[in-house]
Amino acid sequence: MAFLKELASKSAKLQENEVTHSAVATEESKEQQKEKYQSPVKKCPRCETDILEFEFESHLTNHASEILPWLYLGAQRNACNLKELKERIQITHILNCAIEVECYFPNDFVYKKLDLDDVKTENITDLVDDALQFIVKCKDSEKKGKILVHCAQGISRSSSIVIAYLIKHEKLTYEKALSHVKSIRRIAQPNSGFEEQLRKLEKTWISPTI
Ligand SMILES: [Zn+2]
Repeated sequence: MAFLKELASKSAKLQENEVTHSAVATEESKEQQKEKYQSPVKKCPRCETDILEFEFESHLTNHASEILPWLYLGAQRNACNLKELKERIQITHILNCAIEVECYFPNDFVYKKLDLDDVKTENITDLVDDALQFIVKCKDSEKKGKILVHCAQGISRSSSIVIAYLIKHEKLTYEKALSHVKSIRRIAQPNSGFEEQLRKLEKTWISPTI
């Protein structure tokens, strides 16, 4: 009997230890959570929401990116956000570079649509001058327009057109234009076919044939 009692008491002690141990584990993860959620908060200048600092950069890709004070680069989600377009950034012109994305507010903005697919065999060379003319028209308009250039994700098609603008009109090299755009919108990246065409265009624009 004494043996059985001793066993029962050992088992009770073991269970007690387990409880204490798991209580500590829970406490630790709560502590970690607390730390995570007490991370400094930054107010997003665009939507005025308080964003945890470690999530701030990824939050910014929710918004159209300000490449120049009047030139924005974004995604489909920005193109259909009327409040952001009209009230927060006062867009006047929209250059839609995605064949599959509709022009959402034809009564509110001046549109141009480029029926581009995000494939490396797509030809941007033939339509780039026309696209850049539309951007310049917005910039030089009497009311000092602001333009959103967008595709579906704001990664390849629209960033290629914005980079083309920076090369031709701001006289940047392809590399400098790309790194300027990426410093503001890190997900921007022309596909390999667009990059090749942009590098050829850069040569044409920098050293015109005599
Ligand atoms: Zn925001």
